[in-house]
Amino acid sequence: MVTNALTVDVEEWYHICDAEPFISPADWPSLPSRLMIGLDLLLADLSKAGARATFFVLGDSAARTPRAVPSILSAGHEIASHGYSHKQVYKMSPEEFGADLDRSVGILKEQGAKDVRGFRAPEWSIRADSIWALDILARRGFRYDSSVYPIRIIGMPAARPGLWRVSSANGRSLVEWTPPVRRILGENLPFSGGLHLRLLPYKVIARWIRELNDQGVPALVYVHPWELDPDPPRVKLGAVKRFVHYARIGAAREKLKRLISDFRFAPIAAILDDLDPAALDEGPER
Ligand SMILES: [Zn+2]
Repeated sequence: MVTNALTVDVEEWYHICDAEPFISPADWPSLPSRLMIGLDLLLADLSKAGARATFFVLGDSAARTPRAVPSILSAGHEIASHGYSHKQVYKMSPEEFGADLDRSVGILKEQGAKDVRGFRAPEWSIRADSIWALDILARRGFRYDSSVYPIRIIGMPAARPGLWRVSSANGRSLVEWTPPVRRILGENLPFSGGLHLRLLPYKVIARWIRELNDQGVPALVYVHPWELDPDPPRVKLGAVKRFVHYARIGAAREKLKRLISDFRFAPIAAILDDLDPAALDEGPER
């Protein structure tokens, strides 16, 4: 049985990129925190199913809610970084990105994480114009990244879905894990997280994951605690962003519960322990 990767981006309901003028980072400290509502439900569901996951924790959330990281760690999950300030990588210089990354790793370690060697960028923001970030991660000794999204609107449409290897200039290499997609009408359709996980029928998602697993390929699933919150505050957003964030938001928890009962899941670090990076194709493109 193939083990799939379950990943969680640990952030508040208000950590939305480009949400100005409705909400801006200066407003964050005065907004109510609801992080532990979704997180506690998720941790309980995972423990009941005996599933473990990788939690990409945002530095800003760790700072505001210092009990989040210890509760994730004590349940046996992996802690990785989602950066500190939730700014898209392509809006930062390499120096800013490095500093934001170091700050996030610093707080996660202060709160008990021993080894932080995985990264996911806010809004899947490692793409063609910010691919330099993979080199920075490799140079800092990161083992893997999961920030490349193979679709046109927010990511890098030509990216290879699944696992691939990146070699950095100094000889270090990094594993990249891009979410799976189905090729439909010439476009890549994601199905294993966010809006797509909420909208697509469970049967379809389960069939597509099973088809990958039948070929020996693990799938990568992703969720956010605010998707599992029974009543997350709705930020006023433009029509497209509002749809992406809130369409069928109540469906996320039930879908996830079914997935963790029907499939086997583990943190990314545990899956990589059983894998030889030298056997992977070199990315990013097919
Ligand atoms: Zn995020």
